[in-house]
Amino acid sequence: MFCLRAMPYRCSIVLALLLAAVPAFCQTAAPAAPPAAPELRVFDPALVDKTIDPCDNFYRYSCNGWFKRNPLPADQTSYGRFTELYELNRLHLKQILEESSTPAATRTANEQKIGDEYASCMDTASVNKLGIAPLKPELDRIAALRTAGDLPALLAHLHAIGVNAFFRMGANQDFADSSSMISFYDAAGLGLPERDYYTRTDAKSVEQRQQYVAHVHRIFALAGETDMQAAKDADTVLAIETRLAKASLTITEQRDPQNLNHPTDVRSLQKELTHFALADYVAAAGAPAVGKANNSEPKFLAEFNTLVADTPIDQVRTYLRWHLLHAYSGTSMPESFDLETWNFYSHTLNGAEKQQDRWKRCTSRIDREMGEALGQVYVARYFPPSAKQHALDMTLAIEQAMDKDISSLDWMSAETKVKAKEKLHTVMNKIGYPDKWRDYSKLVIMRGDALGNQRRVHEFNQARDLAKIGKPVDKGEWMMTPPTVNAYYDPQMNNVNFPAGYFQPPFFSDKEDDAANYGDMGSTVGHELTHGFDDEGRQYDKDGNLKNWWTKEDEEKFTQRADCMVKQYDAIEAVPGVHLKGKLTLGENLADLGGLWLAWIAWLDKAHAANVDMAALTDGYTPEQRFWIAYAQQWCTQTRPEQLRSQAQGDPHAPDEYRTNTVLQDLPEFAKSFSCKKTDKMVIATACRIW
Ligand SMILES: [Zn+2]
Repeated sequence: MFCLRAMPYRCSIVLALLLAAVPAFCQTAAPAAPPAAPELRVFDPALVDKTIDPCDNFYRYSCNGWFKRNPLPADQTSYGRFTELYELNRLHLKQILEESSTPAATRTANEQKIGDEYASCMDTASVNKLGIAPLKPELDRIAALRTAGDLPALLAHLHAIGVNAFFRMGANQDFADSSSMISFYDAAGLGLPERDYYTRTDAKSVEQRQQYVAHVHRIFALAGETDMQAAKDADTVLAIETRLAKASLTITEQRDPQNLNHPTDVRSLQKELTHFALADYVAAAGAPAVGKANNSEPKFLAEFNTLVADTPIDQVRTYLRWHLLHAYSGTSMPESFDLETWNFYSHTLNGAEKQQDRWKRCTSRIDREMGEALGQVYVARYFPPSAKQHALDMTLAIEQAMDKDISSLDWMSAETKVKAKEKLHTVMNKIGYPDKWRDYSKLVIMRGDALGNQRRVHEFNQARDLAKIGKPVDKGEWMMTPPTVNAYYDPQMNNVNFPAGYFQPPFFSDKEDDAANYGDMGSTVGHELTHGFDDEGRQYDKDGNLKNWWTKEDEEKFTQRADCMVKQYDAIEAVPGVHLKGKLTLGENLADLGGLWLAWIAWLDKAHAANVDMAALTDGYTPEQRFWIAYAQQWCTQTRPEQLRSQAQGDPHAPDEYRTNTVLQDLPEFAKSFSCKKTDKMVIATACRIW
């Protein structure tokens, strides 16, 4: 799925799905007054810095006021308008959780679960006192591994409890037939963010690997190993992970679904895995007996097979022990583990200066674990039906704009246009929250057992996920929770998803006019819709099947135009020595440019129909100027250099400065609204354009 922004957790492992309606427990608790909210505006003239020429650097012009008011907090690696709203939502969630955590006979089943899980997570004293004892049974299981023959059952168990070792098996829509759910075998098993961290040879990357080994070393030592043993084991972990990394596709290669499309069946896969009894693994995992499968990265599984054969079993145990400790070294484990993990991942890799307060991390944890139980109350309190209607109206207007735009394209043939429009009008719009809430009745949450709760949540989610194999696809499923400040397009579902948490100021407001709302939220709606037609999304047909519907000639013309953007972003040096990756960010860059263009033509149509006076000034700006400023102001963000580096290397989204300036440089309509001259920096000679 394609997110508007990188997620604080991996998109692919987000919880989801809804089986049956649960009692509306929100009705039993009297909504308390929401915490005082700062006034956030979609178009905010007070944030504009008039000392800067808009034609020189529009991002600075639109955001400097915001930068001055919002120094980067010590506990954040980047802080922008998305974080501003995210933190506000988190305060709202905290209030709900605190209310639910007070034991009372009147609590509903869901309130008991989210409330007791929050209380367990907040109970640092108990977590510290228990030490790593709650993890002992799992460590013992790993210690009992004697031969490669025992590995399948052990690995199935570890995967069920959330341990990211070796590969990942889960349910996904078949590439060839999006209506059927089959098992997918994906590459996994790395402790660093992605495979290139293991292969880059520049000085900074070499240093980061040394720091990683030191981190693994310290975690092993905290778990009771001698210093010498911990050092040796950390080296073993890096060696095994490096082998896995080298056999994995790069994140850019993973963007092309053709690279991941390798249909097979469990029996054939078993034949290839000569040293790993896949049938035993599948049986132990409790996956339904459906033969059809997809081997996303054949080279990776082949290397895993070889690795099982030639790696001494004590080294396999070491690797598994690390991934178990790593999976649980957060709020479920003593503070020493928690802090060490923060120190490497947030501080060393991304520059945070202070760990986030525990309540913040516990609130986010419950949102990840039981987001629809928590989200149900959130929606009842903070997402009025009118917001849903506004969102729907805007989505339909942008869809119409895209229809009109497709008609006007001079490079696309009539034949492809028909197919493109078919796909466009099949897109399902999902807004706010699921129609049917997810059923958590089988999940057991016990107060005072933070680690056990984490384990049971993983088991519950894994069981739910595997149960999908062989069942009809549930198109009502959400991959983001309702309070999330983000949005996504799912190419296999062919739907766009806008969580309730996002449809509010500073991104959308009933109190502001269309110029502001279309420049901001409208561009996001357009962004998500455009994903269905970006270099990746365009490979899927209207039903979500990976099936080419383009004529050869149109495909070439599209690629030519897209290449213009690859070059444009490749040329950007985000931090000294690190350029953006044009191909990695292509889908998002296409969506940014296409999305803003669609919002612009949708808004112009609306403004003309309403006879808006385009010369009238509000706060000193024309409607057109406010449209562009509202667009830019959604991206105001302060980012630490370490985070900027990580982002440039591995995030498919360009940094926010370029999501503003580079996108606007490609739209001459922007330059016209501010009367920019040919020699100005915001005007470039050869703009890229697709839509
Ligand atoms: Zn996107």
